[in-house]
Amino acid sequence: MKQSTRAAVLAAPRRFNLVDRPAPVAAAGEAVVRISSTAVCHTDLSIFTGDHPGVKYPVVLGHESTGIVESIGDGATGGGNLKAGQHVIINPIISCGHCDSCKRGEQQLCRNAGLFGREVEGSMCEYVHLPTRYLHALPDSVSLADATIIETLATVRHAQIRLGIKAGESVVVLGQGTTGLLHTRLAVLAGANVIAISRTKWKLDMAARMGAQHVLDISAEKAVDEVLRLTDGCGADVVIDTAGGAATLMASIEMLCPGGRLSPYAVSHECCTQFTTFPLYYKEISIIGSRALNPTDMAPSIDLVAAGKIDVAGFVSATYPLTRAAEAFDEYERNPGKVLRIVIDSTAN
Ligand SMILES: [Zn+2]
Ligand SMILES: [Zn+2]
Repeated sequence: MKQSTRAAVLAAPRRFNLVDRPAPVAAAGEAVVRISSTAVCHTDLSIFTGDHPGVKYPVVLGHESTGIVESIGDGATGGGNLKAGQHVIINPIISCGHCDSCKRGEQQLCRNAGLFGREVEGSMCEYVHLPTRYLHALPDSVSLADATIIETLATVRHAQIRLGIKAGESVVVLGQGTTGLLHTRLAVLAGANVIAISRTKWKLDMAARMGAQHVLDISAEKAVDEVLRLTDGCGADVVIDTAGGAATLMASIEMLCPGGRLSPYAVSHECCTQFTTFPLYYKEISIIGSRALNPTDMAPSIDLVAAGKIDVAGFVSATYPLTRAAEAFDEYERNPGKVLRIVIDSTAN
């Protein structure tokens, strides 16, 4: 292990500094992980641009992170079989363990929760140390760059468990970015009849590869009639909105069948002045929120990728070394229509 760890510190919005610090040591109950790959997502981008509310700078970003266990502190047991050399993915939802939500096993709702890579320093560096309960073993057969998608898959899984999708149901997925494509795939695996909607042709091609029965190049507002047609006039049992915004919310409610469920999966701060509770009453629509992931979502998500049930090819659009983190964010910001995932490689120079 090296004596120092290089970190890409975001000192202020749009200002990365590369800093060398002493390498961490595993305290009792902790492990040190040599970081391999960190995928950048929209949360990171909004912190980079200064648009994420309540973030304190300087911050070390990175929460979709994989690496290799370097050393283990005293008394650390972890989620199973953790030893030096083990490939791991990090569950970035840092929870207190003693509030009412944590006691119910709903760590994602922890009253004192933080995100690894926002409230605590994340993985845009070479080495991190953290309690072993946040580490989940990965099989060597999955590349550490591809495996970063498992964190996102676990958040998608968490939302779908809450939606309770059943075989034979019709599911509309609005938007086919990374989360939209993973929603499409998981709904297909649940046996649903999936209608994937996007305005980007190559993303629809990927949605077809994920197994979507229908792919529509159309805006959400214009998709209502088409969804009704494809569902024999009934409307969809489930709509998952990964695009977000007021117009999509209203269209989502309109395209649901009576008794339908809506996941407003994309976080939107846009005020929806058209919304009334009437359709919730009249059609008995359920709006089902979901936040991040529960630790129990990690192992099944790892298994899905390891078993090849999620085809991860094509998700990583570009890879940058840690030393060029700023360029990675520039590309992500400039080309949102061309990028699915950008990965920061902490092992490259
Ligand atoms: Zn993320
Ligand atoms: Zn808690």
